[in-house]
Amino acid sequence: MEPEPERTGGDADRTSWSDVLSRDALRLIAEGVREMAGFQVALISVVLGEDFRSVAIAGSEEARAALWDAVTPVRTIQQELAKAEDWGRFKYVPSDRVGAIDEWGWVPDYEPSDHPDAWHPLDLLLAPLRDDEGRLVGLLSIDLPTSGRRPDAQQRSLLEKYAAQAERALLVALERHEFSEQIRLATTAREIVRSLSVQLPIEDLLVQAGSALSEGFRAGGSWVQTFAGDVLGSGALYSARGADIVLPDGLVEVAETAAHQLWSVQQWVVIERDRRVEVLTDGQSRQIHAFMERIEADSLLFVPIGAGSTCVGNLVLTRVEGQAPWGRTEAEAALDIGHDLGRSILNARTFAREHRLVQELTALDQYKGRLIATVAHELKNPLTAIMGHLEMLESTPDLTSLTRSSLAAIDRGSQRLQRVIDDLLLLSKVGDPETAIIPAPVALQPVLEDLAELNAVAAQRAGVAIRLEMPEAEVLALGDAEELDTALGNVLSNAVKYGRSGSDVTVELAREDDEVVVTVRDQGIGISPEDRAQLFTEFFRSSNPQAVAQPGTGLGLAIVQRIVQRHGGAITVDSELGVGSAFTLRLPAAVSG
Ligand code: ADP
Repeated sequence: MEPEPERTGGDADRTSWSDVLSRDALRLIAEGVREMAGFQVALISVVLGEDFRSVAIAGSEEARAALWDAVTPVRTIQQELAKAEDWGRFKYVPSDRVGAIDEWGWVPDYEPSDHPDAWHPLDLLLAPLRDDEGRLVGLLSIDLPTSGRRPDAQQRSLLEKYAAQAERALLVALERHEFSEQIRLATTAREIVRSLSVQLPIEDLLVQAGSALSEGFRAGGSWVQTFAGDVLGSGALYSARGADIVLPDGLVEVAETAAHQLWSVQQWVVIERDRRVEVLTDGQSRQIHAFMERIEADSLLFVPIGAGSTCVGNLVLTRVEGQAPWGRTEAEAALDIGHDLGRSILNARTFAREHRLVQELTALDQYKGRLIATVAHELKNPLTAIMGHLEMLESTPDLTSLTRSSLAAIDRGSQRLQRVIDDLLLLSKVGDPETAIIPAPVALQPVLEDLAELNAVAAQRAGVAIRLEMPEAEVLALGDAEELDTALGNVLSNAVKYGRSGSDVTVELAREDDEVVVTVRDQGIGISPEDRAQLFTEFFRSSNPQAVAQPGTGLGLAIVQRIVQRHGGAITVDSELGVGSAFTLRLPAAVSG
């Protein structure tokens, strides 16, 4: 008859028995049993899943080679045990009852003596080893008594003791193994959680953390509940398997309260099915147990999540029936992860908040850009009509001098309006990321020479001398010729405009590594530190009376900065009020061909 399948233990990781120290400890026990009990071979196996796997062998080289890492189905051994003589802990299966041992065991090669008690090569002497709850966790097998005989009553009572010792040693080793596995897995989980990028959307972050945790803790499932935040709604749940966990409303609140309490004392709680939870009311316990039944969880490890004094949520890891109970080390590791997750959640929230702010600002900026472009276009058409008519009127003969001076005033106003509109259109063009530049090499010497010439009249009128300091060798910037011309022209015309009569404006050109550097230096009115902070803002004009005296739109430098930025360059200002200013533009250089 088939023996009933037995409850087995060995919930420790079933895939590896790599813990060398545990193996060594068991080998010592096997050696001891072999020597003390007077047998040539002693073997300790552990239950790994459906099989026994040999983990410690004492005996001849031949025996060790044959039995090293041997795997035998638990069922096969149980079939043998069913036929055994019961010697107490040890079970003896005489050779004539043993099944096809050559298929799974080791049969020493020798001729038994013809003594009635002679030990036969096929004889089996096995002691099943059990944990405190009676679950089968291992097997002690001994073979080849040195006397060549079956053990007598006295030897058997000794054997009983060795089996008990081996059992204890195995349980300690298993615990150790379990413990080191727990630490290894929890550490892995922690590393994964720590490595999660805060730049992930918080939902993805928590789902990823969830699957790492389920694996790391050998949990049946896991979920993270976050409390009302400014980004997440209240009671958001993230489970590794998606939205398959739905907490009843009442439990969301119970969990939130419990998490806050536990965070303040840095504790966790293990909830087992059908066992009352001390801190909760009967009603709450019932609710939780009903929920556990529904999700088929046998136990829950509930850990608060937070950072500093703030509790932001909770983490729940579940195990199903038959899995090991939650150990203290695991709970502590989970609480550590609660800290990591807390920081990640807060960081992710800050990141999301900043991200949202940037999006809002970008939208605002785009709106401003569109507004400027629309207004400029709407003004341009009527202005063109005004200027056309003005020209017509101006060429009318016999105008009175009063009319002429009115027309001249209209003309000046129109010119000024035209400049503002042109600047606005340019600003919206260079500020539009969708109209990107097509970069090409631009020789800067001729550009600067042309600009110096263009500004010569204004310079003369202002009593300023423009000096160019340029290297012989051609300096090529990489960019849009027209835009670079505009940017450099604006800076130079400012230097002339705000320069002091009788002083110099120097334009220096240099190549530095893979950049070209243009510095425009004047000895003019200078710019105060407060003004410098706003210099590149659209429509900014200094309140310095000397600056206000000059005509301007306050758009020139805003345009320059956008052009420089979209070329991948930078602009800096160095200035002292009343002494002068230096504007430095750095632009990417083109390799001269
Ligand atoms: P604007 O059309 O007013 O010149 P900009 O954007 O070119 O507009 O310049 C903004 C303000 O920065 C000016 O109004 C002026 O106060 C100040 N500024 C610009 N360049 C200089 C300079 N070289 N020296 C002193 N002040 C300057």
